[in-house]
Amino acid sequence: MRKKIVAGNWKMNKTFSEADELVSDIMDKLEQIELDRNVQVIVCPPFPYLEMCTDYANDSYFAVGAQNVSDQERGAYTGEVSAEMLKSLELVDYCIVGHSERRAYYGETDAIVAAKVNQLLAHEITPIVCCGEVLEEREANRQFDVVRRQITDGLFHLTPEQFNGIVIAYEPVWAIGTGKTATPEQAQEMHAFIRNLINEKYGENIAQETTILYGGSCKPSNAKELFANPDVDGGLIGGASLKADDFIAIAQAF
Ligand code: PEP
Repeated sequence: MRKKIVAGNWKMNKTFSEADELVSDIMDKLEQIELDRNVQVIVCPPFPYLEMCTDYANDSYFAVGAQNVSDQERGAYTGEVSAEMLKSLELVDYCIVGHSERRAYYGETDAIVAAKVNQLLAHEITPIVCCGEVLEEREANRQFDVVRRQITDGLFHLTPEQFNGIVIAYEPVWAIGTGKTATPEQAQEMHAFIRNLINEKYGENIAQETTILYGGSCKPSNAKELFANPDVDGGLIGGASLKADDFIAIAQAF
């Protein structure tokens, strides 16, 4: 049975003390509820707060992820953070790659996504690879071509062994931070399309094992109907992950 995931992308928000308060609030709430054992809750704080958050990571529901990683191994790359560094924090198990904000503002191409995925896998960190079309692409009915290209060029160089365990997040860019969510039908249609691409490349078993998250204005009021779809295995949550109550309510939506 594939893993269900609710991952919070805090983006560039919170001071250290606010972040500490948020993660400890999330932990308190997680202790009070009963989640399915198959559900993994992940927080992805800014780099300076990763170690503090790993203090809370344990072998139950809760794990920590980074929001970005260098495409290079090590060396003279001022300001960059390598996969090896993340790994040396010991409990950073996931890392977001190819988020639309990084593609739009920092020139992250599919080739860079592929290089970052390689770095993460070399250091045994699970990439959460984002894909998704912008509004004009959806309006032109090009969403499937765009997502096919992102997945093919960013991931399909991997061997089946490497691909197994990759997490994908479908995030229609027009739904990120806009309050406009994809309908459950739109999400399911794209998730089934992605799973079929994986099936064609790596076969049925790997396709069925791959966790595919939805992202884009997911909140407690819409999580249940999104997660009820057979190919939607959870969510990558931006704004709603900054409030412990909302984030936990989303984790309970399975
Ligand atoms: C995101 O940025 O990954 C995201 C899904 O943001 P939001 O939930 O705020 O739309």
